[in-house]
Amino acid sequence: MPMPTIKHVRAYTVRGGGADYHDQGEGHWIDDHISTPMAKYPEYRQSRKRFGLNVLGTLVVEIEASDGTIGFAVTTGGEPACWIVEKHLARFIEGARVTDIEKIWDQMYNATLFYGRKGLVLNTISGVDLALWDLLAKVRQEPVHALLGGPVRDELVFYATGARPDLAKDMGFIGGKLPLHHGPAERDEGLRKNLDLLADMRGRVGDDFWLMYDCWMSLDVEYATRLATAAYRDFGLKWIEEALPPDDYWGYAELRRNVPRGLMVSTGEHEATRWGFRMLLEMECCDLVQPDVGWCGGITELIKIAALADAHGKLVVPHGSSVYSYHFVITRHNSPFAEFLMMAPEADRVVPMFHPQLLDEPVPVNGRMKASALDAPGFGVRLNPACELERPYTH
Ligand SMILES: [Mg+2]
Repeated sequence: MPMPTIKHVRAYTVRGGGADYHDQGEGHWIDDHISTPMAKYPEYRQSRKRFGLNVLGTLVVEIEASDGTIGFAVTTGGEPACWIVEKHLARFIEGARVTDIEKIWDQMYNATLFYGRKGLVLNTISGVDLALWDLLAKVRQEPVHALLGGPVRDELVFYATGARPDLAKDMGFIGGKLPLHHGPAERDEGLRKNLDLLADMRGRVGDDFWLMYDCWMSLDVEYATRLATAAYRDFGLKWIEEALPPDDYWGYAELRRNVPRGLMVSTGEHEATRWGFRMLLEMECCDLVQPDVGWCGGITELIKIAALADAHGKLVVPHGSSVYSYHFVITRHNSPFAEFLMMAPEADRVVPMFHPQLLDEPVPVNGRMKASALDAPGFGVRLNPACELERPYTH
């Protein structure tokens, strides 16, 4: 059978949770006084939505092949990402063979260099790339992980990100990552509260359960060094995540030199492409990189980032992203565990990470997921028809 070609690409946006997981209702732990680079302005300290963290919404990319097979993916990007797909990237996708993934990536990246390189454009390229992998795997009637070399272990193990590591421990996770609530603008009183919360959680979970702090780009080197040093010494913090703004490679290198041996510095959630990660690795900024497959350039780019990290002896533990991460993590030796975002408003139960946008989305059971839970063709998920898609642009 000849390989199908790509007939149409369509880009939609949808609101309300899902891939734009910050787009939640009131009272959700994910928007409860979390430390951010905007927290120096008191009016933006309580809620990240107030400064617009949920402005984009979800991007849905749908790619239809000449044999009628449809691949799709979701990531963030919303309406502006729809414009980029429909008005610019579609020309590199339609008419290509469904196997032309590498060539399409290279053309999308190089054609957008004059306004792209990172951020929204790479979110968009990632969305297209994930839809292409979903399409090819569906045409071949295989799971995406089979196209990536196949599982290297029988199951995934997870740590949980959310406000309640103590409950995550009871649910079988191997660790819990807390959002940091107070930044440098709240001075020593805030630092004390950050350490008090960690002390409380350490008391609840015992000595051996991993505890981490996610600082969402909000600290400076001096504050991050003080927090990390005390948190490691007194409460056995496992890693400090994204302590500094992503452009401050020099600061990350300094932080990593400053912190005690045994505490890991992690970052990369808001980094993109092999070149961004090359900076982090060659400048010795961190011990663990956390690319988001929906933002860093998709599976095609994550393969390169992970190989580069492997050659530097570093772990790759992708940020969130549900099935798009799981199919990758299960195929990599240097990705020994995965992240699960607790999207229940009180972080007190496991719900699908991209709810309500995806159907058939697998979730960890007792903190684990069998490789066999990922055996359906493509990424193994369906778009929920109950979610109202909007297609703001056509071509
Ligand atoms: Mg993070």
